[in-house]
Amino acid sequence: MNKASFNRGISARGWICAFCGDLITSIEAGRVEWLAGADERGMSTVKGLRLVHALCGYDDRREFRKDHSLVEGLPLNRFVGPDGLMLLLSLIAEAEMPTADLLEIVKRVHIPGYEQTRELFSEAIHGGSLAPLIGEGFYLQSEIQELLTRTVRQETPP
Ligand SMILES: [Zn+2]
Repeated sequence: MNKASFNRGISARGWICAFCGDLITSIEAGRVEWLAGADERGMSTVKGLRLVHALCGYDDRREFRKDHSLVEGLPLNRFVGPDGLMLLLSLIAEAEMPTADLLEIVKRVHIPGYEQTRELFSEAIHGGSLAPLIGEGFYLQSEIQELLTRTVRQETPP
């Protein structure tokens, strides 16, 4: 991700597109997609779970030519609100998709401020300026708020 799009991510609300790096500024403009395929033993596999602009999706033909993966996905609006959270929980329970990737989508869509701060935590934690109570990757609202406040202070010249 380039620096410019990252800074835009802090100041503005939205999600950073995994393809182009620009902000997805409305739920309607977003899409969650993944690549479905099979391993050598014929077991179905899912990889490449990502949040993108609807127009930044995988190229179906290229992915199929590469390793016979099929591009699947749903509009971002299917993942928001209580019904969206339930859908995500059901996907986690099915365990067909990479759990860590699904958890990240849950946090990015459902935890206020997470998207704006998730890249900043690593630096704050390893720099010793923040020790998350639950653990790395799982942040309290007060910790997210603290990081947001610090960042806004740095962005705004005195
Ligand atoms: Zn995009």
